[in-house]
Amino acid sequence: MAGSPCVGILALQGDVREHERLLGSLGARTTRVRRAEELREIDGLVLPGGESSTIDRLARAFELRDPLIARIRDGLPVYGTCAGMILLADRILDGSAGQRTFGGLDVTVRRNAFGRQAQSFETELDVPEIGAPSVRATFIRAPAIEEVGPDVTVLARVPDGRAVAAEQGAVLATAFHPEQTGEPRFHERFLRAVRSV
Ligand code: GLN
Repeated sequence: MAGSPCVGILALQGDVREHERLLGSLGARTTRVRRAEELREIDGLVLPGGESSTIDRLARAFELRDPLIARIRDGLPVYGTCAGMILLADRILDGSAGQRTFGGLDVTVRRNAFGRQAQSFETELDVPEIGAPSVRATFIRAPAIEEVGPDVTVLARVPDGRAVAAEQGAVLATAFHPEQTGEPRFHERFLRAVRSV
């Protein structure tokens, strides 16, 4: 694609602005994606945090679901945070009635995995692939990964062993929100994938 790569942010619902701000600070060009035509012009896609069942419903209503799945299958670099991670999971537990995902990441994800007591919390995570220092991670009604397919690399786990960041090919997902704490290293990793395609 001519010029600098363009990163789409799925802008049906969720924390779109925070991703725009962080990607902009890293020098990336971004555009909001709401329609199928807009999917053709992008070199990478971010699925924001928000409410995965709402994003799923709106993606179907806006006829984005099928073209989006096709582009992910074609190798489009994608990064999903929290609700975005749920949407990238091939399998979902505790979804709302009829909730579907786009898929692309061979994992089983449990929605709202941290329960009522701790719907939101912050913690420090060691992420060897990201390097030192450790990552300050914000979990907001976050999901967790409960099963991982053979081609998936787990990047981070919470102390009880559940996976909260994973990667498979050009698909990257975190259960937490680097876009909300200004942690740039996951977005940088995603941008490297975007620039190398
Ligand atoms: N619990 C939300 C969901 O099911 C995700 C929360 C978030 O993205 N912060 O989609």
